[in-house]
Amino acid sequence: MAAATQKHPWLMALGTGCLSPNLHFNLPAALSMAGEVTLFTKIISGDIPCCEVAKGESWLAFLDINPRRPGHTLVVPHEAKKHLAELSLPQLSALWLGVMEAQRRLKAHFQTDDFSIGIHDGPIAGQEVPHVHIHLLPRTEGDGGLSMLACWPEALPPGSVEPDFTALNELAEALRDIGEGHGG
Ligand code: AMP
Repeated sequence: MAAATQKHPWLMALGTGCLSPNLHFNLPAALSMAGEVTLFTKIISGDIPCCEVAKGESWLAFLDINPRRPGHTLVVPHEAKKHLAELSLPQLSALWLGVMEAQRRLKAHFQTDDFSIGIHDGPIAGQEVPHVHIHLLPRTEGDGGLSMLACWPEALPPGSVEPDFTALNELAEALRDIGEGHGG
């Protein structure tokens, strides 16, 4: 069982008793929309149970089964795309409304206004499930969590050296030269 749960972490969740299937989503529709079946499309379709927090027409929020702290929630669009930039604009905007809705509930429950919100946008960034998902973690005093800057523990601490404005300006200019995409 240990090896199986390492490969399929949702198997562990099956034994927790807190899970409810989400039968509101039609997997064939997801396939035609997204072309790929992921762990999260199976959760969305109800084939794999989850601890649902909230849902909308095109997104689902559920508790992470390996919470870094209580309330660690994942918000997932129905479209199974690996990268945020591949999502359609309606999915993208609905997804952020989903984050707001899940956050509203977490705020009320954990009595905090502060959150860490993160996306591993692709495998090099740490993504394990190749389906866009937003990690939403309520933050409370002394919860042991760090800030995003801790992702680069070897980097010099902010303020410890003068900013290199020549390099920063060169990079900013190169990025501006690329021109506008659909977000511009
Ligand atoms: P990432 O590293 O950004 O791809 O995060 C994937 C997250 O999905 C991890 O935090 C896992 O703990 C979580 N996860 C994996 N399987 C499940 C599951 N069946 N239900 C809920 N969360 C899951």
